[in-house]
Amino acid sequence: MALVNEHFLKLPGSYLFSDIAKKVNSFKITHPKQDVIRLGIGDVTRPLPPACIEAMHKAVDEMADAKTFRGYGPEQGYDFLIEAILKNDFAPRGVHLSPAEIFINDGAKSDTGSIGELLRWDNSMAITDPVYPVYVDSNIMCGRAGVLEEGGTWSNVTYLPCTEENGFVPELPKHRVDLIYLCYPNNPTGTTLTHEQLKKWVDYALANDTLIVFDAAYEAYIHEDNVPHSIYEIRGAKKVAIEIRSFSKTAGFTGVRCGYTVVPKELTAATLEGERIPLNQLWNRRQCTKFNGTSYITQRAAEAIYTPEGKQQVKANIDYYMQNAATMRKSLEAAGLKVYGGVNAPYLWLKTPNGIGSWRFFEQMLYEANVVGTPGVGFGPSGEGFLRLTAFGTHEDCEEAMRRIRKWLA
Ligand SMILES: *Cc1c(COP(=O)(O)O)cnc(C)c1O
Repeated sequence: MALVNEHFLKLPGSYLFSDIAKKVNSFKITHPKQDVIRLGIGDVTRPLPPACIEAMHKAVDEMADAKTFRGYGPEQGYDFLIEAILKNDFAPRGVHLSPAEIFINDGAKSDTGSIGELLRWDNSMAITDPVYPVYVDSNIMCGRAGVLEEGGTWSNVTYLPCTEENGFVPELPKHRVDLIYLCYPNNPTGTTLTHEQLKKWVDYALANDTLIVFDAAYEAYIHEDNVPHSIYEIRGAKKVAIEIRSFSKTAGFTGVRCGYTVVPKELTAATLEGERIPLNQLWNRRQCTKFNGTSYITQRAAEAIYTPEGKQQVKANIDYYMQNAATMRKSLEAAGLKVYGGVNAPYLWLKTPNGIGSWRFFEQMLYEANVVGTPGVGFGPSGEGFLRLTAFGTHEDCEEAMRRIRKWLA
């Protein structure tokens, strides 16, 4: 008899997006003539940059010829892509990493979910709240999150509320924790940390021997100067942080699948006897056993992001979304709503008027304005009273959605 990993049985169902779909469907059945604009789901809509498409076609042709065909590649990724990353994403910011510190992944979700394998199950952990659900769920699966308490929180997880009162800048944990997940620019609040604010976290980690997993999936959306693009811009961060990046939101790779994980050589964790073990070595061993690399064609597409044409095309797509974000912010504020985010991230975090609940506001917006958002409480208890809107739609849809909301609230 095979016994199951019972930690999986503790996982609450992931109902957020199916609950939304159900509510939208019942609206459509009762209002067949009304069209609904969806600003809820966090997926891109612009096609891939032409530079990436061209690189993929070329790579496909190479695969068709015995002389240029490629089979298994390095588990860590091809040097051509790693070199492009080091040269473009880090060196210009004064961050010097070696090729062996970069691991090409098949998108950030896999590694964000798997990185915890390097750590014992009984480490203590902290997450900001609200947050991307993968951090908690992957820790529930290995038993690290503890047991579900009343109110929907986990016994071994320290929640760091990000609220209007603290400007969505979490306070440091009151007691020491072993592991902290940070995501900046943030999904879902769309807010970020300045250099000084992020430095507090790195200093805390250095003082408390804490490991930070830094999810920088929205790095490409940063527009303000004093916002670090990489945690390694902060002195000492290489000793305490793993950074995970993705080309999904940067270049529309949600369906292509590629990103990378940085595990610096200086970063260590301890054995019970106190011996320090480099995590780079462990992650490399893990990858060589469990991962056979991202496809060659995909890595060529990712390399093309860093060509002059690629950079320009990526910027044009991001500008497209950020123009939506700016229009949305302005319209929502003009409609009398309080809005956060949308400056360094493609998300707007809308405070519901008169303190109504996230779900109630979601339904009102659906029925009165025919616009779909995502109830903030779906991302964690501190998201109650907020709604997330994404800027990933077309200009036309965003403008029409804003017209409807303004008319509804007028
Ligand atoms: C979209 C997203 C990711 C990236 O997922 P991929 O697997 O790379 O597509 C990672 N973290 C956050 C917070 C995200 O919103």
